[in-house]
Amino acid sequence: MTARILDGRAVSAAMLERVRREVAEFVDAYDRTPTLVTVLVGDDPASHTYVRMKANRCAKVGMDSRRVELDATISTETLVSRLRELSADAGVDGILLQHPVPDHIDERAAFEAIDPSKDVDGVTRTSFATMAFDEGGFRSATPGGIMALLNAYEVPLAGKHAVVVGRSPILGKPVGMLLLARDATVTYCHSRTADLADRLAEADVVVAAVGRPEMIRGDWIKPGAVVVDAGYADNTGDVEYAAAAEKASFITPVPGGVGPMTIATLLAQTVGAARDHEATR
Ligand code: NAP
Repeated sequence: MTARILDGRAVSAAMLERVRREVAEFVDAYDRTPTLVTVLVGDDPASHTYVRMKANRCAKVGMDSRRVELDATISTETLVSRLRELSADAGVDGILLQHPVPDHIDERAAFEAIDPSKDVDGVTRTSFATMAFDEGGFRSATPGGIMALLNAYEVPLAGKHAVVVGRSPILGKPVGMLLLARDATVTYCHSRTADLADRLAEADVVVAAVGRPEMIRGDWIKPGAVVVDAGYADNTGDVEYAAAAEKASFITPVPGGVGPMTIATLLAQTVGAARDHEATR
């Protein structure tokens, strides 16, 4: 079997076209432009690239973006107070704090300084809880993008065994909750999982969210499984792509799979936040 590609570029392009129309309607209705603020701490080149890509996509859909760049030596307290200021700024609809922040910063404290109504990247406890209870609210952007990609290809999830490799608060944990909400049976694996290959051999759906190039071998994949690779390190995913594609029914390429879906989800949630802000003014 050769897997069908889950084409994140094509699906995200359609999503962004919808967002572009929604932004135009919003501007007509409210005479202002939805605004996303990205906050970047430090000089990590990959983070700079991600933030630039997000700003470019904003421009393409007619959304405003503002970039706040802070020195790598900034304290948690200063970052928290900057995020609180942005949370209180009526001209800001969405706030994204680029992950990861430097090690000395308490990232959780920083995330929690983002007002939940502007948490378009879905990183606060409030967003996690509403998502886990299946009560709407903002989804963590990458998990939300993964689900949109699976939906676009009508990948069946109910009753399937989904194995999520990785349990970070922004990716592994929330994608497992979203799969559970779609009636998948979910197993989480992580760095202490003793028998990863055995767990993956049972997986109808694999979500790889680790950041270790090709650590998931193609021959671990169950024939016909759906493989979603969110990992990205050294321009490579977590899954040994060519070998996995021989066994899977569907697979995401890296790049061009999950990454574009993350940005499209972020922008879709930003225009949604702008509408919510107008509705509650
Ligand atoms: P993270 O916070 O570093 O989490 C990595 C997870 O992988 C942890 O839960 C860790 O387990 C687990 N892990 C580490 N080594 C393992 C092993 N040998 N076997 C099984 N699990 C192992 O990373 P993250 O922020 O979730 O990101 C994960 C990857 O996704 C990275 O490559 C990142 O670049 C990528 N990413 C992509 C997008 C996108 O838009 N495409 C967005 C976000 C992240 P423990 O919990 O036990 O330590």
